Amino acid sequence: AQQQARATAHQLAITRDGRQVSVFANIGSISDVQVAVANGAEGVGLLRTEFLYLDRATAPTEEEQFTVYQAIAQVLERRPLIIRTLDIGGDKPLPYLKIGVREANPFLGWRGIRFCLDSPELFKTQLRAILRASAGHNIKVMLPMIATVSEVRAAKQILAEVKVQLRQAGIPFNEAIAVGIMVEVPAAVAVAERLAAEVDFFSIGTNDLSQYVMASDRTNPRVATLVDGLHPAVLRMVQQTIQAAQTAGIWVGLCGELAADPLATAILVGLGLNELSVNPQAIPMLKVAIAQLSLAEAEAIAASALQQDSATDVRALVQQSRS
Ligand code: PEP
Ligand code: MG
Repeated sequence: AQQQARATAHQLAITRDGRQVSVFANIGSISDVQVAVANGAEGVGLLRTEFLYLDRATAPTEEEQFTVYQAIAQVLERRPLIIRTLDIGGDKPLPYLKIGVREANPFLGWRGIRFCLDSPELFKTQLRAILRASAGHNIKVMLPMIATVSEVRAAKQILAEVKVQLRQAGIPFNEAIAVGIMVEVPAAVAVAERLAAEVDFFSIGTNDLSQYVMASDRTNPRVATLVDGLHPAVLRMVQQTIQAAQTAGIWVGLCGELAADPLATAILVGLGLNELSVNPQAIPMLKVAIAQLSLAEAEAIAASALQQDSATDVRALVQQSRS
């Protein structure tokens, strides 16, 4: 099966009845991008930029970031590269920033877009680097941990200011750069149709969405079993998000670990996602799994999954559908 998967890894993933689902890679370094392309990634659905900021004494400069983003985009050629802005959290201290102040609930604290909006210089430096790398490359920006429409507007305002500066300095960038958000906070799901009016795409982050929907810290073993992307409560949130995106006519992908779970493939395709973004190693088998599905069957499995009472029941349902 692995060998067969390698043979088809560089083809598009299309269901038996003709629905194409993009298969992208999640990456967190320059070396990952080569592995992603070798495994058949059609793009990068999530570049985690935290690696640029961790384990060092000072923040990365604009030049340093620009060089890295450009190098990754070059390996991808014309394939899309979705760069997520810094998603640092209260649990990951950065000595050169104010972050690292202990918080009682770091996952409910000062992280992601909240931290970036409160650190405009740091945020602008990253946006400048991303915009500069966007000249001649298929780069999109993605904002993490969005909970409110105001956060998106504030971030877009800062992006617009950075564009003005670059324009005035005669520095090239893609004026029409697409801006998207991670949907990983339940509040974002609740107002998804409002958020969809503000952005070009959604990418659902089920790692965080699962813990926030279930009110269960993913690092606390006592409640860890509740944090399950296949729980119907989480799947219903995924469905709501996809419906809001479809109504608004924007693209919607999913980049949490759930996308790489073989038991989730039929459900996620059936719910109507345009893209699944997974760790590079998972790409060949995911493409095989999509090619074996029919969209009609996948839609039926998805509808039935939403009516189950537990993640265990959802798994049983999927397993049953395969036999
Ligand atoms: C997620 O939350 O699902 C996600 C992809 O982001 P991260 O795992 O980096 O928080
Ligand atoms: Mg997340």
